[in-house]
Amino acid sequence: MRKAANSNKIIKQANEYLVLAVLLKNDPLSVEEIVTLSRLSRPTVLNILKELDTRGLIYRAGLGESMGGRQPIMYTLNLRRYFAVGVDLEYPPVRVAFSDLREKVLYSQEWDCLPGETMEDIEENLVNAIREGMRRLNIATENLIGIGLGIPGRVDIARNLAVRMDRMDHIWQGGDIAAQLSMKLGVPVTVRNDIHLLAAAERTVQPTLPKNFLYVARRVGIGMAVFLNGKSYEGGFGNSGYLGHTVLDPEGPACRCGQRGCLECYATTGAVEINYARGAERPADYGTIVSRAQEGEPLAMAVLGDAGIKLAMAVVNAMLLYDIQTVIIEDCVDDGTFFAIVRENIEKLLGPSSDFQPRVLRGKLTGRTFALGGCSMIVKNFFKAPQLKVDG
Ligand SMILES: [Zn+2]
Repeated sequence: MRKAANSNKIIKQANEYLVLAVLLKNDPLSVEEIVTLSRLSRPTVLNILKELDTRGLIYRAGLGESMGGRQPIMYTLNLRRYFAVGVDLEYPPVRVAFSDLREKVLYSQEWDCLPGETMEDIEENLVNAIREGMRRLNIATENLIGIGLGIPGRVDIARNLAVRMDRMDHIWQGGDIAAQLSMKLGVPVTVRNDIHLLAAAERTVQPTLPKNFLYVARRVGIGMAVFLNGKSYEGGFGNSGYLGHTVLDPEGPACRCGQRGCLECYATTGAVEINYARGAERPADYGTIVSRAQEGEPLAMAVLGDAGIKLAMAVVNAMLLYDIQTVIIEDCVDDGTFFAIVRENIEKLLGPSSDFQPRVLRGKLTGRTFALGGCSMIVKNFFKAPQLKVDG
């Protein structure tokens, strides 16, 4: 008996999801059109529409064209009812975005954590930024379906728990940031690795990406997400594709992770600044080094070129390891100069006559969409069809 009751509930949810998915793709739609597209019976569709209407998820958007009889009522998803929040905690930069159910960013905010800030300060600032977003959009907590939080580190996905925060060891003592935020805001928080969420945002921004691709993000650190059959491969601790600490030279400079000669010792913007300062009379910031390289200054060209070769080496190894030919390189600070160096080196390393044809694409995220991945994850979970589980 329990089995039958459970199955009925799940079937009802699955049907509801089907109607929502049909509306999400094609609205506005009449009842007849929803019946045709969902292949559900008319009474089932009418019941679901009534239920969705009560929950404020749909509304009547006027009358459609008559097919001979009365003009049909057209139904549309209510994009003013539910919203998702994404947080990209890159550290020091932090970004917050609000999106509707179509994953369109409606509000975003970005700031830098200050050197003396504690974990409590960071959480407080996040809470304030999310409340500010709610005020601007004129919505309440009951309108938020969830918060997708990206952290720079490892995640125990089953327990929804951050287990390591890169670069934040000095302020993070193992506290449960997702639970803290959830408690303060009264909204469920789902935590994931930041790069994996960026990759999800990239898929929203570039919907024509193939099913298998590598996503490499170069920011304060360097990370990678692996998409296999349209799904991000999480790994044991939600942190697969930890590219930045691939060792390229065991005799190389000491890395903050304890190893030597990691990719991050050469290819991050910070590493470029350090390596430039070693050979220059005076240190320069990353933007200045790029400008000098464009003007033909030998030291700037050499340091940037070396960074590009090192990143290309790590990316080529990953492409061959997974047998994936498409790679997206996301770079928050690049004007295209560094990307061109990396792409040229990837193509050179893989050889022009090889049957392995690399497709090296530039990431398209901007400040406004960096936190969209958290929203995308929450929205996709919202529209996820419940799986019918067969007992015993
Ligand atoms: Zn390292």
